[in-house]
Amino acid sequence: MISKKISHNLANSSMIRAMFEEGEKLRKIYGADKVYDFSLGNPDPEPPVEVKSALRELAGSDQLKMHSYMNNAGFPEVRETIAQKINSETGLNLNFSNVVMTVGAGGALNVVLKTLLNPGEEVIVFAPFFVEYTSYIDNHGGKTVIINTDFNTFLPDPEILRAKITPNTKAVIINTPNNPTGVVYSRDTLSSIAKVLEDKSREYGNTIYLISDEPYRKLAYDVEVPNILTIYRNAIMIDCFSKSLSLPGERMGYIATNPEADDVTTLMNGLVYCNRVLGFVNAPALFQKVIAKTINSTVDINIYKERRDLLYNSLTELGYECVKPDGAFYLFPKALIPDDIEFKNRAVKYNLLIVPGSGFRAPGYFRLAYCVSLETIKNSLPAFEALAKEFK
Ligand code: PLP
Repeated sequence: MISKKISHNLANSSMIRAMFEEGEKLRKIYGADKVYDFSLGNPDPEPPVEVKSALRELAGSDQLKMHSYMNNAGFPEVRETIAQKINSETGLNLNFSNVVMTVGAGGALNVVLKTLLNPGEEVIVFAPFFVEYTSYIDNHGGKTVIINTDFNTFLPDPEILRAKITPNTKAVIINTPNNPTGVVYSRDTLSSIAKVLEDKSREYGNTIYLISDEPYRKLAYDVEVPNILTIYRNAIMIDCFSKSLSLPGERMGYIATNPEADDVTTLMNGLVYCNRVLGFVNAPALFQKVIAKTINSTVDINIYKERRDLLYNSLTELGYECVKPDGAFYLFPKALIPDDIEFKNRAVKYNLLIVPGSGFRAPGYFRLAYCVSLETIKNSLPAFEALAKEFK
């Protein structure tokens, strides 16, 4: 039989599976256009045309070794393209040796955690958060330490962070723009986190890493998403193309470090080794080449911005309380009753599929992923209205 731990984890992750099955059932009964499924963060806009032309061009080329094994870090020229792109945005001085191509952001997080963690070391995360973090930390023998953000803003309090750091703290994970809240951390917020980590690293004589998980960095609406490598020398930046190019199935991401990070050569060697021994070996070859050709492209973020505006404005008019998201494609309103699981069940009666905040360690809230058409959002509004009336 399978391991006790996995069997326990399977039981705990059944909520998402149950929601998926619920959606399928409702679609069969009522028809897909009568079901308002806000549960999945699966980008629906097609990848930009540049991606398709790069693919066509590469498919027709007779480049040799295009599909071979390569250095476990990825093609040097692709890594150099990414390094130069970061330099042009930041004035930093990365080169290809500061970049490792990975199997999405999920792969990157596992590579980083495997590289850094000794058994039992602590990794701090700020709730609400992308819940896979706890599994990834556990994969590599670490211990998750959860700190709540201020739920009025979903921003972390640097002084609470300071109080929670121990000699056993190895890293802090941040995620901006954030899943599930859509909040973007300002330069000031990031600088105050960096200051705490600098002070505490000095106090304990250990490097405390700041792992910045940034799948949504290009999906920000009229606000700056500061580059973390310019703010904290021992930051490890994780980016991917799952959302910015609508390519989640192609599994492309990367890790980037500051050339001035502590013992950066050993860090990079560790990351490359872990990419190999986790069995990723290297990121997908063909799509690395596509990325190098489309590094300046992004999906049309106005599509998401229009949906954000419609959903946010309509729900707040209906009386839902919500922090206005500046990025990503999520809204994280307060449930109209404290029990967010019960609230999710009541929403299903109106064919609204939402994810309870408990799934992100923030009970009493719910997440809406607006990876659905503007039409679906418009059609869903009477359902949100009827749901709100139940609780007036
Ligand atoms: N981190 C966050 C915050 C996410 O929301 C996701 C995907 O939804 C990931 C990581 C994983 O990204 P990828 O599909 O590139 O592995």
